[in-house]
Amino acid sequence: MPQNSPGAAVYVLGVRVDRVSQAQALATIEQMISQRKLSGDTLPCRQIVTVNPEFVMTAQHNHDFRRAVNSAALVVADGAGVVWATRYLGQPTPERLTGTDLLPMLAQRCVACGYRLYLLGATPGVAEAAAARLQELAPGLQIAGTYAGSPALSEEDAIIERIREAQADVLCVAYGAPAQDLWIWRNLSRLPVAVAIGVGGAFDFISGRKPRAPESMRRMGLEWLYRLYREPWRWRRMLALPRFAIQVVLRGRK
Ligand code: UDP
Repeated sequence: MPQNSPGAAVYVLGVRVDRVSQAQALATIEQMISQRKLSGDTLPCRQIVTVNPEFVMTAQHNHDFRRAVNSAALVVADGAGVVWATRYLGQPTPERLTGTDLLPMLAQRCVACGYRLYLLGATPGVAEAAAARLQELAPGLQIAGTYAGSPALSEEDAIIERIREAQADVLCVAYGAPAQDLWIWRNLSRLPVAVAIGVGGAFDFISGRKPRAPESMRRMGLEWLYRLYREPWRWRRMLALPRFAIQVVLRGRK
C-alpha cells in the first residue's frame, strides 16, 4: 500500500505514477514535512520517487525496486517517456517533474518554512557545490549537511547517524536508480527526516558539473538524447527507452 497516496495514480507496466502537477507535488511534500513537525518528529519518513522509463524497465525484473516505487508516498513522472505513456494509457499525468527541477523549487519552500535540507550522494565535492548553488537560488536556505558516502550496506549506519546529528527535514539521495530508491526504502523506518527523495543526477546538473539539455530540447521531450550525446556510454542503459515504448504499446492497456 502507498504510504500516503496523494490521489489518482496510473500504473505504467505495473509501476505507479501519481497524476499530480508540479504545484500539487510540492504542496504534498510540504504537507508531509509539516505533518511530521506537528507530530513532534514521531511520524515515519515518507519516500518520494521520480520515475523515468529506465525505472519502469528495471522494475519489471527487480521486484524489491517495484515494491519500493509502488509503496512510496509520492511518485512523480521524471521522464518525458513516462508522461507520454500515461497519455497513451488514457490517464494522463499533467506534467513532468525531474529531481533537478524539483530541488530548487523545494529549496524555496524550505526557506519559507525554515526546513533543513541534507544532500547525500554524487562524487565528493558535488553535493557541496549543489548546496552552494541552491543557496544562491534560495537565499537563506539552511543546508543541514552534505556527504558523498556510498550506497554500500556497510556505510548505512554511519550515514544515518550523520543525518540524525544534522537534524535535517528533507533528505535528497543521489546514488542513481535503483540504488538510491532501494537505499531509502530499506532504511525508511529509521530515517530521521520527514521526506527522502531519490534525485538521480540532480546534484551534477544543479552544481553545473554537467550541462543540462537546452530548454528547447527539454520542451520537446529530448533531454535523454542530449544526455546520450554528452555521455555516449549510456547507450546500453538507454536501450530501455525503445523497449519501454514497445512494451507500453503492446501490453500497456491490458
Ligand atoms: N552515484 C554515487 N554513488 C554510486 C553511484 C552513483 O554517488 O555508487 C551518483 C553519481 O555520481 C550521480 C548520481 O549518482 O551524481 C546519479 O547517477 P546517474 O546520472 O547515473 O543517475 P540517473 O540520473 O541516470 O538516475
